[in-house]
Amino acid sequence: MTDTVAERLAAICARIAAAEREAGRPEGSAALVAVSKTFPAEDMLPALAAGQRLFGENRVQEAEGKWPALVAAHPDIELHLIGPLQSNKAREAVALFDVIHTVDREKIAAALAAEMNRQGRRPRLFVQVNTGLEPQKAGIAPREAAAFVDRCRSVHGLAIEGLMCIPPAEESPGPHFALLAKLAREIGVGALSMGMSGDFETAIAFGATHVRVGSAIFGGRPPLTPPRESAA
Ligand SMILES: *Cc1c(COP(=O)(O)O)cnc(C)c1O
Repeated sequence: MTDTVAERLAAICARIAAAEREAGRPEGSAALVAVSKTFPAEDMLPALAAGQRLFGENRVQEAEGKWPALVAAHPDIELHLIGPLQSNKAREAVALFDVIHTVDREKIAAALAAEMNRQGRRPRLFVQVNTGLEPQKAGIAPREAAAFVDRCRSVHGLAIEGLMCIPPAEESPGPHFALLAKLAREIGVGALSMGMSGDFETAIAFGATHVRVGSAIFGGRPPLTPPRESAA
């Protein structure tokens, strides 16, 4: 087990390159989004020094506290919002992020379109698909994805670059990645945001263009919410 952020990052990059080769894909065709949620700004420094530039955060407010100073020092940083977006945070999200992976309902599409027109900034957009139809998970249902992407374009004037999914934790991810890739082909979008620390190589085999890897680079995170039993 390697023990620094720089060493773990280098190991992940090597595994991504190997997975690309294995899949017969061009080197660099699967971009690494280093998921930095819950980790402080200082933990980003070794990753930045190693040349990593794509970073993912799942909360707008946390990202606002962590990234503006780092972006000022490294203007080529690309910030990806990979967590659920509330429409009342659309303004901040459009101002800070370069890519938003989690467009999943009409209200968000409308709020993003309004903010993009107001600010003159156009973050690249992915539509999140709930491939496992999990009630607790964000994302549009697979059978509604094509119509939703169409409405993003025709009603809201949004260019949709790709699709994103988070497969159910307890299921084999391959079929979910295959479903997302099939939907993207049918819809006619090129980018696929899929694969995390535990399954990014599988995702690359199924065509991922963006893998979102956090704990394998930055280390383990405390659980987001306390277990139900211990909640006050
Ligand atoms: C936290 C998170 C990741 C990274 O997960 P790891 O298992 O730590 O690699 C990827 N995608 C989303 C949407 C996340 O919230």
